Amino acid sequence: MEMQRIDLPALGEDTDRTYRLGIMGGTFDPIHNGHLVCAECAFDALDLDMVVFMPAGSPAFKQGKQVSTGEDRYAMTLLATSDNPHFVATRFEVDRPGVTYTADTLQLLRDLYPDNVEFFFITGADAIADVVAWRNADRVAALAHLVGATRPGYDLGRAESAIESSPYDFDVTYLEVPALSISSSYLRERVREGKSLRYLTPDPVTGYIHKHQLYGARASRYGASNDRYGIRSGEGHKDGQA
Ligand code: NAP
Repeated sequence: MEMQRIDLPALGEDTDRTYRLGIMGGTFDPIHNGHLVCAECAFDALDLDMVVFMPAGSPAFKQGKQVSTGEDRYAMTLLATSDNPHFVATRFEVDRPGVTYTADTLQLLRDLYPDNVEFFFITGADAIADVVAWRNADRVAALAHLVGATRPGYDLGRAESAIESSPYDFDVTYLEVPALSISSSYLRERVREGKSLRYLTPDPVTGYIHKHQLYGARASRYGASNDRYGIRSGEGHKDGQA
């Protein structure tokens, strides 16, 4: 099957059953444990067969904003998902030139997979609130179920009213994921401040951030794992606080 070649799981071989493929769409700059817990919750709650983590190529709403390269975001996503048998990281969007629109992504996936494979596009509820304004939103509604992941205390009002007032027939499931109180911006801030990322993202991701000096991290001769917290890489770590 073609899908093997492009790092997507082969699904749909048994024509007597349907398959449910989760697609975790996000910038993942960087990926963190909130994303991983979220995908695992969706896997259980929606009885998914596999979850594909798809770092956004050139995110439509991030034009002009500073985002790490697709290569770095993909590498961290691969490291973070490598030990889970039902998670797969894909280059599907990062290898696509130009701005990547979700409607195009879903259509390309639809063309690749047989009809007995259903798509569940999982992303943050903030993004779901904007989905009605995405390019070809009608195609997004037709091609996938949507899963909006929320942090505890998150007000769903904006997302719900946007979906309800849309002329398109979106099928949305909301999933509250306590671990999503972690955010990528919080991790970036901690790196900038020289603080620990331990328990916020898998250690190999922390190592990658320091090795490649992302988010203002400083490299050291011995790498991130040489210090007390497994994350510090620069000089001047005075207080020893994580
Ligand atoms: P975002 O606006 O950066 O993120 C919105 C919120 O959702 C943030 O709090 C973010 O937290 C969280 N989030 C993002 N992805 C998540 C995921 N998979 N699971 C749980 N929480 C998640 O959104 P974005 O990352 O740019 O875009 C999300 C997805 O929507 C991407 O696949 C993107 O390509 C797609 N999108 C498509 C269009 C379009 O087709 N026109 C436009 C916008 C977005 P963190 O920062 O901690 O991740």
